[in-house]
Amino acid sequence: MPRNRPPLPDPVSLLESPPWRKKVRQKLLRWYAGAARDLPWRKSRNPYHIWVSEVMLQQTQVATVIPYFARFIDQFPTIDSLAVADEEQVLRLWEGLGYYRRARQLHRAAREIVATHQGQFPSNPTHVERLPGIGRYTAGAILSIAFDARRPILEANTIRLFSRLLAYDGDPRSAHGQELLWRAAEILLPRREIGQFNQAIMELGSLVCTPRQPACGTCPLRSLCPTFAANLQDEIPKAARRVQYEEIHEAAVVIWRGRKVWLRRCVEGERWAGLWDFPRFPCQTSDKEADAYLVQEKAERQSQSRLGNLRQWTQMKHGVTRFRIQLTVFQADFLQESSIAEGTNPTASESRWITVSQLNELPLSATGRKIAQQLSKPPVAQRKNTSARKS
Ligand code: SF4
Repeated sequence: MPRNRPPLPDPVSLLESPPWRKKVRQKLLRWYAGAARDLPWRKSRNPYHIWVSEVMLQQTQVATVIPYFARFIDQFPTIDSLAVADEEQVLRLWEGLGYYRRARQLHRAAREIVATHQGQFPSNPTHVERLPGIGRYTAGAILSIAFDARRPILEANTIRLFSRLLAYDGDPRSAHGQELLWRAAEILLPRREIGQFNQAIMELGSLVCTPRQPACGTCPLRSLCPTFAANLQDEIPKAARRVQYEEIHEAAVVIWRGRKVWLRRCVEGERWAGLWDFPRFPCQTSDKEADAYLVQEKAERQSQSRLGNLRQWTQMKHGVTRFRIQLTVFQADFLQESSIAEGTNPTASESRWITVSQLNELPLSATGRKIAQQLSKPPVAQRKNTSARKS
């Protein structure tokens, strides 16, 4: 039985109350002055650093981003240095963060900034929003934090915080919800310290107004929060529909030619576009013999070679977005080049024969890296001998 809810205030009336808005700003900025985390991208107001951090932080936890950010800025200290880099170098540094489209767009945008803005990150919002990979949120974050521009922001943490602060019990992802919350993000902005304010709302959403069990007892806004007063933190914001995960089966093949293995670069439209991978394809049947036949045929088409001695080697599981991949990895030996003419292969892409140690230099798909790590381990017998010598 649904419990009787206390009446909630109208979100729009709250937003239209200047004293309420003033108190929100004051309390939030005072709290942030003492609670802000010391994060590497907060050490300066360099728009390039803020931009890189904002892109890395999309769908990724702060703790994961910190070492990636440090390595990236160390390798590419300026927009110019990023623009002249090879895409492969950029992806290698991004490897493990996932969502590689972000890295490719960052790289493309750096080239555009060099070509059209002399390498200076633009401060004009129209120019910023035209850059690849930069939408309304990212533009607002960079412009407000780096230039104190009066630009609102709305992302996962602030959607949750504003929904609770306004006691908005509709769907925050709906058109109506988005309109209301963007309006809140805009109307709540102070006249000064805009960048600080935007960082403060994200920080409060991330550290205090968390999805489950928010720390209302330590929240600077609790006296202004109708969701806290009504004890509705578990119901607001309205939960999103659960992601339906899809199990898929794939096969990959390590093709040996002497001490070298064959790799291809994933093309546009593929899951790991721009990264290198072993030949890989969907594998739907669980009949192992039929599988092996199809696997060999597909690997031969991708590598444009005849293969022999195909053998099943290992299995691994990997989750990416809404897919749960079960990967069966085979090994096979190169016999000869095949007669499939270049251009008729539908998956034609850049390819290379490289040694196992060279795999370290290339940006690889997530499972490609796992395979590479297994290939570089010494054989079991050798490992046993080494540990016997150590003891
Ligand atoms: S009082 Fe609780 S629910 Fe309200 S904003 Fe603060 S942490 Fe969120």
